[in-house]
Amino acid sequence: MRLVTSANSSKEEFDKRLRFITEPVGRVDQQLQSMAVDLLECMYLENAVGLAANQVGLKIKLCVVDPAFMYGRKMPIVLFNPEIVEHGEETFQAPEGCLSFPEVGLLVPRFRNIKVKFFGLDGRERTIRDDNSLLSSVLQHEIDHLNGVLFVDRALQPTEVTYKDSIIKGA
Ligand code: ZN
Repeated sequence: MRLVTSANSSKEEFDKRLRFITEPVGRVDQQLQSMAVDLLECMYLENAVGLAANQVGLKIKLCVVDPAFMYGRKMPIVLFNPEIVEHGEETFQAPEGCLSFPEVGLLVPRFRNIKVKFFGLDGRERTIRDDNSLLSSVLQHEIDHLNGVLFVDRALQPTEVTYKDSIIKGA
């Protein structure tokens, strides 16, 4: 799995890989399960707490998250076809990074409470109702990825992104 990043891709290539809506998966079979396991492995290798399939070139609605990894534990969650089905009104600003933008750190407004519906690694439908800010912001960040939305789009302050071939202001 190769990470698509602003440092190793031109703006055009980057947008082609990351700014599109991924395809929902059908039944969770062995092939999808092994993709999820590979994605988790890649996430841990990169010391990240979340990774979306399109960040490594897969075009499906799959992401993995593990906020506990920030505290040295492993409690992975695999989400196929994740969808935010409810959210509260309250928002907060969380500091975020993204493996696709190696040099960017930003404050991003997110909902504090969300309810996410998804299919787990075993293919069973599940929901997470979240009132833990870190998990909440990680889930919103990854689900955004699957819909072609990036955290630089949501940040309050304009930012500068350096791609392989150019610097884009206020991206
Ligand atoms: Zn990201």
